[in-house]
Amino acid sequence: MSKVRIYQLAKDLGVDNKELVDTLNELDIEAKNHMSTITEEEAETVKELFVDKEPTDEKQEDSEQKLTVVPPVTVGELAEKLEIDSTSIITKLISKGIMASINQNLNEQILSDLASEFDFVIGDESQEDEEDSNEEEKIIEEILKDEPKGDSAERAPIVTVMGHVDHGKTSILDAIRETKSLESEAGGITQHIGASRVVYNDNTIVFLDTPGHEAFTEMRARGAHVTDISILVVAADDGVMPQTVEAINHAKSADVPIIVAINKMDKPEANPDRVKQELTEHNLVSEEWGGDTICVPVSAISKDGIDELLEMVTLVSEMNELQAYPENTGKGTVIEAKLEKGRGPVATVLVEDGSLNVGDAVLCGNTFGNVRAMVSDIGKRINKATPVTPVEILGLEDIPNAGDTFQVVPDEKQARQIAEQKKEKEREEKLRKNQAVSLDNFFEQM
Ligand code: GDP
Ligand code: MG
Repeated sequence: MSKVRIYQLAKDLGVDNKELVDTLNELDIEAKNHMSTITEEEAETVKELFVDKEPTDEKQEDSEQKLTVVPPVTVGELAEKLEIDSTSIITKLISKGIMASINQNLNEQILSDLASEFDFVIGDESQEDEEDSNEEEKIIEEILKDEPKGDSAERAPIVTVMGHVDHGKTSILDAIRETKSLESEAGGITQHIGASRVVYNDNTIVFLDTPGHEAFTEMRARGAHVTDISILVVAADDGVMPQTVEAINHAKSADVPIIVAINKMDKPEANPDRVKQELTEHNLVSEEWGGDTICVPVSAISKDGIDELLEMVTLVSEMNELQAYPENTGKGTVIEAKLEKGRGPVATVLVEDGSLNVGDAVLCGNTFGNVRAMVSDIGKRINKATPVTPVEILGLEDIPNAGDTFQVVPDEKQARQIAEQKKEKEREEKLRKNQAVSLDNFFEQM
């Protein structure tokens, strides 16, 4: 039976990835994130739900005879929209005792006064946005249409390390890389590109460098779900601290499994039982205590327990059956991006599904480009990146944001077109917000 990818289904239904995943989970259909797949049958079930929810078009038909004006709008813009002379609006306003110039923003109250005089209706922002975005999504959908190609294959888990400051996140990452890094095998040198791969017992694991909570907040703000597993580091001599709790909450709200690394076990004052006790207060009950939370005692200094920790990561990863379609067109998430002298915009991306090739046209957040070159996490130039590979890509027009998604598109022209649409929309949004704010200030002063 063929499988349906969640983000594809979300796109088809015009719903948010997260909304769809939540709905699936409510229906007891297993779906970890937007990269997961479900069966066609399951897709049909959920489709019905969303189709039922679609609003009827009656309301829109009602207002179709009249022009819709969406605030904020200036006198001049209104005149243009109504195809009348702006002086007739100004005259009308003066007759109501309102002095207005052509560049004046009209607040909603004045606008509703004018609506009855000039026979138009006031639309709300979301309505226009929706129409805009529906139109836009249709075009984008057409371009990005992408059926899963070929066979699915197991993919490496993407892991973040979280925890309270000084509990040893960096030290644990360093310890892991020192012993398990790809560089020794591939003869490269680990580059700091925001993510790196390590190999444990022939299993590849991708680690994000960004401390977990930053990655989570920044990326989740953009709706990205780039983490499969979280390692929660708790110092055995310090216990659960505020940022530990924060990290637990982030992982839980993103529905990411947590593996606890009880660190600094080499210290004489280490007290792992106290850590386990404190964790129970946050509903993380260790396996030895009858719960299902994996706790691994480690020391980043002596490296004791690091192998066990990686063993647990591969175990949890296998349990979650992470899959990708290497023959698909590439897509994934931006981990970090910057402007580099002589190189231009450089973005580190994680290829989460499909393959990314040098020469591919990509849409990346609201920018685009042709992949001119790719550099792997061990500093090697590569021509092809399969799931899951962290790579630096060169050739983008502008700097994307961490958490933006990227996607290979048929050609650069289309990429540019979509990117420009997105940018324009963002600009409008900003303008709208600013205008709303300045109008508020204006009235506060009165
Ligand atoms: P982060 O803020 O969570 O990234 O913590 P760091 O990795 O920077 O570690 C904070 C401090 O704890 C450093 O001085 C480390 O040397 C020390 N440290 C980290 N792991 C261990 C460990 O396993 N044992 C001991 N004794 N010290 C550790
Ligand atoms: Mg650190």
